[in-house]
Amino acid sequence: MTIPLVDLKAQYQTIKPEIDAAMQRVVNNTSFILGKEVAEFEKNFAAFCHAQYCVGTDSGTAALHLALLILGVKEGDEVITTTHTFIATAEVISLIGAKPVLVDIDPRTYNIDPNKIEAAITPRTRAIIPVHLYGQPAEMDAILNLARKHNLRVIEDAAQAHGAEYRGKRAGTMGDVACFSFYPGKNLGAYGDAGALVTNDVALAEHARMLRDHGRSEKYAHRLTGYGYRLDALQAAILGAKLPHLDAWNARRREIADYYTELLTNTDIVTPYVPPHIQPIYHIYCIRAKNRDALQKHLKARGIETGIHYPIPLHLQPVYQNLGYHAGDFPETEKAAHEILSLPMYPELTDAQAQQIVDAIKEFK
Ligand SMILES: *Cc1c(COP(=O)(O)O)cnc(C)c1O
Repeated sequence: MTIPLVDLKAQYQTIKPEIDAAMQRVVNNTSFILGKEVAEFEKNFAAFCHAQYCVGTDSGTAALHLALLILGVKEGDEVITTTHTFIATAEVISLIGAKPVLVDIDPRTYNIDPNKIEAAITPRTRAIIPVHLYGQPAEMDAILNLARKHNLRVIEDAAQAHGAEYRGKRAGTMGDVACFSFYPGKNLGAYGDAGALVTNDVALAEHARMLRDHGRSEKYAHRLTGYGYRLDALQAAILGAKLPHLDAWNARRREIADYYTELLTNTDIVTPYVPPHIQPIYHIYCIRAKNRDALQKHLKARGIETGIHYPIPLHLQPVYQNLGYHAGDFPETEKAAHEILSLPMYPELTDAQAQQIVDAIKEFK
């Protein structure tokens, strides 16, 4: 039996009646754009995050773009983020004509190293985008202190962190704005592209709400130059059907992660480090292995699919050669990029499958 990295079919089977009913409801009433389904989901997702406002968007990337716009980031500004993330985190900075300024990671958590942020701050710096990578919140106290000290705004890239907690606070409630992705494989995934922006600031929420819908607040009055970044009702209905399950799914992911970690003790595999004040949601369970590529091949030959998040750091991406970084600039990220391996992780993964995966890892010489 092969084991995929993520199994969306297995999840659908467990909630088929709820999903089918939600989709049918939207098709029956043909209210496909915004409307009641979207408003309802926004209310429920804000409550899930313990936040005041949620603005649904058509992707996590769109939410990140809107976050920069509503915080007033402009052409020529600089925005600090991690070099170890998905391209979208930095892409939106470039889209605005601002400059992504990259920072290395803490090799234990894979998140931005707060001790290396201050050296990257210049008079042009406007904001920091910490990414809660793999579903584990970044070191927010240190980041928020720096932001206060230097008068910077903070955007949480919580695309992988729905429900993760930092000192009891949920991801998405600590910065000025937070952005979530509901890409199908995320812990809360739509059946297509979708995302959301979350904030406790009513003015920021209203600004984002206008921008995502062509700059309007009423049907034919356009006050701003906006975008077509709306969340569609079919996705909102599907997300709304899945949301009540999310805490249990995240808890099951933590259970699988703990099981993996237990089975992998006394091997030379490095398992995830979780500081005591953090509750991760394991979007990804990332191990480190010296012979990573060979191990990945060995597992593939045994029907076990793995991933690498991410093999090429942002500063070494072809598109970012213009930023002027070089190999060797961010050694912790570069080292991690050669050693990290994401094991299969989804709530429906069984203990027996986890055991099978670890047995296969232990066979590897
Ligand atoms: C998935 C992801 C995004 C982008 O979200 P989309 O919904 O795919 O646009 C941004 N940042 C991170 C860290 C992500 O994992």
